[in-house]
Amino acid sequence: MSDRERQAICCTCGTVRTCKRARNHREENYWLNQPVDLDWHRETGDLKCAECCRVTTHALLHPEGDWAVDHAEMMQCVATGNSHSRFNDRQLSEIRAKYRQGLPRNPELHHFWWTSEAKEAWDAGRRTVTGLCGETMKISRDPGGPSASSRADKRDDSQIAPKRFRDQEYEDPETGLWWAEVDCVDCLRVWHLELLRQRRVLLAEKTTEFLAALLADKSGYPKKIDLQTVNSLIEAIDQAQQHLGVTTQDASK
Ligand SMILES: [Zn+2]
Ligand SMILES: [Zn+2]
Repeated sequence: MSDRERQAICCTCGTVRTCKRARNHREENYWLNQPVDLDWHRETGDLKCAECCRVTTHALLHPEGDWAVDHAEMMQCVATGNSHSRFNDRQLSEIRAKYRQGLPRNPELHHFWWTSEAKEAWDAGRRTVTGLCGETMKISRDPGGPSASSRADKRDDSQIAPKRFRDQEYEDPETGLWWAEVDCVDCLRVWHLELLRQRRVLLAEKTTEFLAALLADKSGYPKKIDLQTVNSLIEAIDQAQQHLGVTTQDASK
């Protein structure tokens, strides 16, 4: 740990302070290259908290602009289903397996998987499928059958809203922990990233095609692309740019 000043958040009360050094500094496991510390203390240290009036564990923050500022968040996204150009398939599986070591997992989570992959596994006699978040799940009935419950399909272009479940917790007999039944947010994130990728490809195709038609319609009379069509497209593009302008400003606040 270097001597530069950095912020630290008390893990008990959330109060922020600054520090140069913390006692018992447990360093981040960069790239998950090292064996996993099963209590998952990463980039933490012991510091006196003015609010708690005692020494508590603090999360140590990397300063803005530091190469590692979002490292842990990036690794978490990769471990729970995001793709990343830095890692090949073998490295991705290793990261996903390591990330799950010792991590309490909610057995009541509802995961999503590609229907095509589940069908392929079922037809090959396998009774498990990997969810979009990387979690392995049992499949108990033919995913191609009429009562299949998976809600992710590679040809589907719709957004998936999280389901509403009963506001109740259930005990996991294996760990004694209590969990609520919810949709897996990692699966939902990965699904929507894929949806965005597909829709962007489609948008690029459509706009390129339309631009070619517009340029071809430049000379001659009457015009194939009329005023109403042109106006509606200008309006749609203006609205999209306005939306981007707003979000860019918000992000820099
Ligand atoms: Zn505190
Ligand atoms: Zn999941």
